[in-house]
Amino acid sequence: MSTYPIRIFGDPVLRQRASEVEDVDSRLVRLVEDMVETMYAAPGVGLAAPQVGVERRLFVYDIGEGEGPKALVNPVITESRGEWEFEEGCLSVPGLHWSIVRPREVHLTGFDLDGNEVSIEADEYLARVLQHELDHLDGVLLLEHLDPDTRKEAMRTLRQRALEDGPAASAGRRERSSRSL
Ligand code: ZN
Repeated sequence: MSTYPIRIFGDPVLRQRASEVEDVDSRLVRLVEDMVETMYAAPGVGLAAPQVGVERRLFVYDIGEGEGPKALVNPVITESRGEWEFEEGCLSVPGLHWSIVRPREVHLTGFDLDGNEVSIEADEYLARVLQHELDHLDGVLLLEHLDPDTRKEAMRTLRQRALEDGPAASAGRRERSSRSL
């Protein structure tokens, strides 16, 4: 197994809608193994394929409840309810966190690596992780969930960093946080 470099804000791959996975072959299984390795090394609790430059609708996650890593292929949110505020970070926007309100509960469907349909009822933290990763598949970053003023300020910070040190050094700003998705 090996790890991928994680794509950082400013990389166009993070702004594109990923396409459906057509079939799960050995290459895809290998990709998932390497994504899991990359997620743990970061460290993070979720990682979507576009974050490693692969435009496919697929993500991995492990929120540390002892069930081990999971992969979800072609996920769709079929229902969402309530509101929940959480301090959210992203491996592709290293070192920054914002309090973001999203639905508290979601129902997701998708497929596992054996091609079985999965149905997940999630709330709070798990629901947050799943929504964040699914956003990545649609080319949406957490910045788009900020109110206009906070977003402006965030963009200023990110532009400033890009001028100061470029993307390679900004990846080095990654905090040792388990909240990055
Ligand atoms: Zn993210």
